[in-house]
Order: sequence, then C-alpha cells, then structure tokens
Amino acid sequence: MGPLGLRSTMQGTPSMPYVCTKQKGRYDDGGMDGDMGSRREATKSPNANRTFQHFVYLYTYATDMTYIMSPEQNESLRAFRKRTYTTLHTMALATKEIRHIRVIKLHPDTQWNRVWHNLHVAWVSEELKAVWYTAIHDTIPTHDRLAKIRLRASNLCNLCGRADTIQHRLTECTDGAAIWKKTRSQIATILCTDPANVRPEWTVRPCFQFWPPQRHGAVLWMLAHMIYYRLQRLVTSDDYADFLRRARWKVYQKARRQDKVGDYLCML
Ligand SMILES: [Zn+2]
Repeated sequence: MGPLGLRSTMQGTPSMPYVCTKQKGRYDDGGMDGDMGSRREATKSPNANRTFQHFVYLYTYATDMTYIMSPEQNESLRAFRKRTYTTLHTMALATKEIRHIRVIKLHPDTQWNRVWHNLHVAWVSEELKAVWYTAIHDTIPTHDRLAKIRLRASNLCNLCGRADTIQHRLTECTDGAAIWKKTRSQIATILCTDPANVRPEWTVRPCFQFWPPQRHGAVLWMLAHMIYYRLQRLVTSDDYADFLRRARWKVYQKARRQDKVGDYLCML
C-alpha cells in the first residue's frame, strides 16, 4: 500500500472520536503544534489502547510521507529513497537555523565541500587521515587555542616566540619552514608550476582540485604525510626525507598505485 493510502487508513479510524465527543478539547490544549502535536496526539489518542504502541512509528511514517510524492512508475527504489531523504532533510533544516562548525565560521569563503571530499579521497592510511582531520578542524591544543579558552596565559610558541597556531606548527616553526619549502617545491614539480602558487593554507584547508586524478592524489599524499610528520613533532628535515622515502616504498608495493598516484611520486 502506498504512503497516501497508509495515511488515510491510519487517520480515518481514530479521527472519529475527536469530532464526535467532548474529548477534542482535552487534546487541543497544551501548545501542540505541527508535527510534534500530531505525533503526541497519536500516542495519546482515545483509541490508544486499541493500537499497539510499538506501531506508533507507522503513524509518524504516514505523517512524514504526506510531503512526498508517491514513487513514479519507472523510479528505482534507490532514487525514491534518496528523494525521500532529501525532502525530509530539507524540511528539517528549514525549521531551524544551521549551526556551522567553528572552522567554517572562521573561513566562510572556503569551499568546505571540496575540503571534506579531498580528505575523504586522500590515498593514505586511516592514521594519517585522522591526524589531518584534527589539523583541518583545528582541534590540536596549540598555545593559541589554549590561550583562547584561558588554559594558558600566552599564545606564544615556546620554541620561537611567535603566535603558536596550527599553521605555525605545520609550516613555520623551527624546521617546519625548511620542510614546507621542500614539500612546496616538490608539489610545484608535480603540478608543473611555480612554488609560489602552492599555498600554505592547503595544509589546513585543502580545497583544490587537479587533473588528472593521479596528480591530485599525489598532492594529497604529499600534504597528508607532511602534516603527519610535523604533528608528531619529529624534528629534523633529514628525517623527513627518510620518512618520505619509506612511505613511498610502501606505496610502490601496492597494486592500486597506478590508479591512485601514478608515477608522480618518483621524484621523491
Ligand atoms: Zn614556533
């Protein structure tokens, strides 16, 4: 039975007592409004004892499905499910203000969909992805973050005396500058461009896209490894070259390497 049919069946029977008896007033007061009101009505209806309580979800289903057109003749189940979800999701969002996470509020001009997509498709281990995730969300306890929530008196870096932000830790502090310079020139080689076009913000807001996918994958691979290395506080740039060579060796053992990063990592 279609959703509309279900609704008429569900509503037809219990609606009688509301109209015909004095019970109506009892259920109208108490500030019931919209969806929630009708849902509560369903659970408190005079016929509640005649309805199995664990079928209340069917009433909710029927209420929601009134906003959704019945499946078309040649519409697949998957397409119908997606349309149902999109409609209900849009309705839910329309009733309340969207609360964005902190980094999105701080950088509203960034294409965040692209950032999340890049983080998702990066061909690196889950461990590296998790570290990059915390860097993008800026949830690492840098002195700048700690000072903002009053857990530290100053936001300055212990090592160099500049403001200790996530960007500072990744690309500026101590050997970070040398490591970033090297990574930047390697990425520039992959992209066949000038190193000045490789921006340091890509480490915390990777909102770029390159063609072909293997080149894109190689840039993501380079950034993810640099961020992981920096946030482990492994210090010298000599170790970094060694770390990259080992990581590349592992990649070259994998069968899907040609699909994911091609030969772009050969210059490491
Ligand atoms: Zn520093």
